[in-house]
Amino acid sequence: MKALKNYKFWFATGSQDLYGDECLSKVAEHSRIIVEELNKSGLLPYEVVLKPTLITNELIRKTFNEANADEDCAGVITWMHTFSPAKSWILGLQEYRKPLLHLHTQFNQEIPYDTIDMDFMNENQSAHGDREFGHIVTRMGIERKIVVGHWSDEKVVASIASWMRTAVGVIESSHIRVMRVADNMRNVAVTDGDKVEAQIKFGWEVDAYPVNEIAQAVEAVSAADTNALVEEYYDKYEILLEGRDATEFRRHVAVQAQIELGFERFLEEKNYHAIVTHFGDLGSLKQLPGLAIQRLMEKGYGFGGEGDWKTAAMVRLMKIMTAGMKDAKGTSFMEDYTYNFVPGKEGILQAHMLEVCPSISEGPIAIKVNPLSMGDREDPARLVFTSKTGPAVATSLIDLGNRFRLIINEVDCKKVEKPMPKLPVATAFWTPKPNLAVGAQAWILAGGAHHTAFSYDLSAEQMGDWAEAMGIEAVYIDANTNIRDFKKDLMLGNIYYR
Ligand code: MN
Repeated sequence: MKALKNYKFWFATGSQDLYGDECLSKVAEHSRIIVEELNKSGLLPYEVVLKPTLITNELIRKTFNEANADEDCAGVITWMHTFSPAKSWILGLQEYRKPLLHLHTQFNQEIPYDTIDMDFMNENQSAHGDREFGHIVTRMGIERKIVVGHWSDEKVVASIASWMRTAVGVIESSHIRVMRVADNMRNVAVTDGDKVEAQIKFGWEVDAYPVNEIAQAVEAVSAADTNALVEEYYDKYEILLEGRDATEFRRHVAVQAQIELGFERFLEEKNYHAIVTHFGDLGSLKQLPGLAIQRLMEKGYGFGGEGDWKTAAMVRLMKIMTAGMKDAKGTSFMEDYTYNFVPGKEGILQAHMLEVCPSISEGPIAIKVNPLSMGDREDPARLVFTSKTGPAVATSLIDLGNRFRLIINEVDCKKVEKPMPKLPVATAFWTPKPNLAVGAQAWILAGGAHHTAFSYDLSAEQMGDWAEAMGIEAVYIDANTNIRDFKKDLMLGNIYYR
């Protein structure tokens, strides 16, 4: 995907001058070592940058404002090494507008039983100083993440890494631009919503283009460029003719190659990162973009079917949050299609008409050309595959009229029992947590859509933290969900977000 900024996170240590210069030089030394070790861990997706120890109102305010202004800074990590009177932080925190992580740690892991004296106690008192800092952040009602534990603990570093990805999602959210090709599918409720409010809340720009404007960009792609891409497809994917004429098949595939190039050029030229299409409004496009959209999603573009701009933006957001992740398993647009209700084997078969991202595939990927059975265009070429197994999250962002709600469901992805040779689309199969009956009931009670933004590489916690940072409601459906408590969660949300 298109490279993101080279984001960095600032490390700001709080202290005061009550204990003298010697103590302050140790504070600075400890912070320097922690920052160096965090960067050396190899576990953080972004670099941590040490800032001078903060001991005065003026310096705190200046540092937070510099963080606001620095385009590469995606957040600040604070730690009160000693005691830092929290009134000193009020002005800086008031003016700070980026994600905040409160790292509640201390330099030493173990109490030095044999040597500990009052000097040591005064110098190493984050258990005390971090509570003072936490109090003012809570009193001021500022969203922050708190991570507790020794800085050398891999679990602590993993929590920082996970928060960094959420923070970049928060920062990058305001740069997401969604291109709508035509409008929403007529009469469909859940895929629609308030675009102005989405821009206020999330920073998303959602713009519509007449379908023939983008179709012209497709027609402008040369035969030579198209054929080169078709060659690439034929090298990379299995070709499943299934009785179709090879020349006619290739011609159908070429239509998608031309769409991929035309769409990509149009998106790049106009600086959009996500796209929606609608099978019922294709203008002069010869096929519903299938294979083309699948490849664009793999390159990092967000997508939503039938005009679903909210899901398109969420897919893009989740691709940003997982950018550069080692051994990533994939992120895609997805749709709940059909159930398996056999006891012990319950689950939901996931697919779309065509548009599932190949990043989630496992095993071979094949190209098929099949009728769409919807709309009035020629049979579109599409990539067909099955998906990886393991835990994942499925999310749905809905507009309730007076607010947005993000529904986050932990799901367990599985292999289907048998191949489905007559199904010409890419699929996944999952059992929602805590089980199909409760998971689907909770999802429907919450008003969740049939479309989801899905990822193997993000946690419910990360998605919930993102929602919190955006000031919207998040509800979780996971192993602990029961319907009685879940209804209370929804009732609380109705009061709180009124
Ligand atoms: Mn759909």
